Amino acid sequence: MLKLEDTYLHKGKRKALVAELRKKGIKSERVLHAINTLPRHFFFDSALISHAYEDKAFPIGEGQTISQPYTVAFQTELLEVKPDDKVLEIGTGSGYQASILHLLGAQVYTIEYQKKLFEATQKFLKRLGIEMHLFYGDGTAGLPASAPYDKILVTAGAPIVPEALVQQLKVGGILVIPVGDRSLQTMVKIVKTGPNKIEREEFAGFAFVPLLGKDGWR
Ligand code: SAH
Repeated sequence: MLKLEDTYLHKGKRKALVAELRKKGIKSERVLHAINTLPRHFFFDSALISHAYEDKAFPIGEGQTISQPYTVAFQTELLEVKPDDKVLEIGTGSGYQASILHLLGAQVYTIEYQKKLFEATQKFLKRLGIEMHLFYGDGTAGLPASAPYDKILVTAGAPIVPEALVQQLKVGGILVIPVGDRSLQTMVKIVKTGPNKIEREEFAGFAFVPLLGKDGWR
């Protein structure tokens, strides 16, 4: 099928995108390699494919977006993913970020709140042959059945850090979550240093679609 063709043109544009991300400060060679490997245009609506290698967020239907490549790279770098890490992502969306985590060798658990998007992405990832655990539901409650996780990544803007997510993190684990108001967020990195102890670091200036649900926006 035409859409799943990865041509020299696409590969060239991807390489240029990776150079741009490097210039913007992304340092992890593993993360840059994953972005260079995964065809982002596969995750786009056909009408928007020519924009797939711009460093911008784009619509993926149901009012949601595929995150900007810089944001994907920044969040993934903060997460320090190691092969075999059990990683929970909140906000599957197009499945692009989850596929980057998969390429880094993680066992990926990902949860999506919009039924239609969940169904479309589940079907699409199967077609790509990418294996991960996909769930439909409210990710602000985490996914207790498969907890604890080495890493948890939230890819929608949250009003607060949901307590359930910190609880479902292993000691030594990392949670990356954008927190702020509906239009602008600060990236928060939480390291769980003990059963009841965390360390917190913040990085300003991100804009995500809102995290909905019980501990999200209503
Ligand atoms: N990681 C995605 C980005 C999608 S945008 C990608 O790579 O394409 C954020 C996604 O979070 C949207 O699909 C939205 O529907 C979803 N979302 C919002 N609130 C949620 C919640 N409480 N639980 C799970 N997913 C949620």
